[in-house]
Amino acid sequence: RCPSMFTSINPATGQPGASIPELTAAELDDRLARAASAYAAWRTTSYAERTALLERIAEQFEANAHELAEIATREMGKTLTSALAEVQKCAGAFRHYAQEGPAMLAPASFETASGPATARWLPMGPVLAVMPWNFPYWQVVRFAAPTILAGNVGLLKHASLTQGCGAAIERMIVAAGAPSGVFQNLAIPSGKVDALIADPRIVAVTLTGSEGAGIKVAEAAGRNLKKVVLELGGSDPFIVMPSADLDAAVQQAVTARVQNTGQSCICAKRMIVHADIYDAFLDRFSAAMRAVKAGDPMDPASDMGPLSSEEQRRTTLDQLDAMQRAGGKLLFGGEALPGKGAYMSAGILVDVPIDHPAAQEELFAPVAMVFKAADIDAAIALANDVPFGLGSSVWTNDPVERERFERDIEAGMTAVNAMLASSPEAPFGGIKRSGHGRELGPYGLHEFMNLKTVFG
Ligand code: NAP
Repeated sequence: RCPSMFTSINPATGQPGASIPELTAAELDDRLARAASAYAAWRTTSYAERTALLERIAEQFEANAHELAEIATREMGKTLTSALAEVQKCAGAFRHYAQEGPAMLAPASFETASGPATARWLPMGPVLAVMPWNFPYWQVVRFAAPTILAGNVGLLKHASLTQGCGAAIERMIVAAGAPSGVFQNLAIPSGKVDALIADPRIVAVTLTGSEGAGIKVAEAAGRNLKKVVLELGGSDPFIVMPSADLDAAVQQAVTARVQNTGQSCICAKRMIVHADIYDAFLDRFSAAMRAVKAGDPMDPASDMGPLSSEEQRRTTLDQLDAMQRAGGKLLFGGEALPGKGAYMSAGILVDVPIDHPAAQEELFAPVAMVFKAADIDAAIALANDVPFGLGSSVWTNDPVERERFERDIEAGMTAVNAMLASSPEAPFGGIKRSGHGRELGPYGLHEFMNLKTVFG
């Protein structure tokens, strides 16, 4: 791209799309000043005013769902069907915070030795969000909805790939009647983030993205003593035990691995299967993975579109090569499809040595690693033997096993007999190198608020 433009490349065709100019230094400063003055007014508004705005934003997302979905599909290649579902989910999250949010901000009372005390939730100021391309609306909305309800104001630095989505989100919020400066999109490259975090008008930062970006943003936040929430990568285990419903597990394993062409932080990336059912699982899983159809993301018949870019495909092919050199066997798939576009076939890798550096990385592609575990202890050890701790999915109908998984899997989330998915009501986040802090539910709302204790 030109130094001062973001030009999206449609990963399904390789064709350039719309160009969005980068903000100049003066424009960026103007937006920061607007955020500061918007906050001064927004922090004093009533919950009724904030929730009314959230309801109107939900309506904007619904009314423009098709246009929004098409922008995402063109910019990062997800199927139009899944992009539409993502936009609807966003509308649901705005409504959730509109309807349930004020109750999450109820003050708490305490009796102290010197009399009563009350803790109340107050806003903090302008918060910066650095966001990824993989769920270009949902990742932003799970920041934006609680931010607006809290009385904070939001500044978005979206991924370079999805600048059109960033601009569209700002348009929706402005069209819903948000006062100027309550939510602004900043068309800037990642090199500008460090200085933004240092700017005194920004009080906190949240990042959803890779480990590398998380380290940089956390360093800058640390230097400036600003709060940071990090939602980073994952290499989620999907454990199947003999007591599980095998058909349901296989069906969900496929969806959990190939959703968003394998590019979700909570995709099931490592299938860990008990030895007694390993062969049966692998047979059925292989048949179902072979049937996954990569194709035009605008076509409802495609199960998955291309990867988000040629670069993403190159990175993935290199990772698959490294895993095979380490002893892994690619049973099928995981290949670049011929012709235009960053397409890749769904595939399965077995016999990957888990302790090899290549197997310790996040694989952001529709290729599953499958492992055999002799018993539940081996399954849990394998699950935990990566630097990440984001999500997990376990399949068992044995209550003792269930308790072991809930207690012993090192992850921020465990889904039992289901594919893991985020929802506005429940906290979402990870441990270890998957980050810290939580989004969604009351906990996500509270992350960027001042819990002020009033004595007397
Ligand atoms: P990424 O390359 O880390 O980018 C994420 C965001 O950080 C982008 O806006 C990017 O801007 C910015 N960025 C990159 N390097 C930076 C730096 N040194 N300083 C400041 N900002 C920087 O990640 P991605 O490829 O967009 O997204 C995929 C990753 O996100 C995967 O690891 C995935 O697991 C993770 N993810 C996590 C969650 C979760 O909830 N835990 C959810 C979704 C995705 P540019 O695009 O301009 O470089």
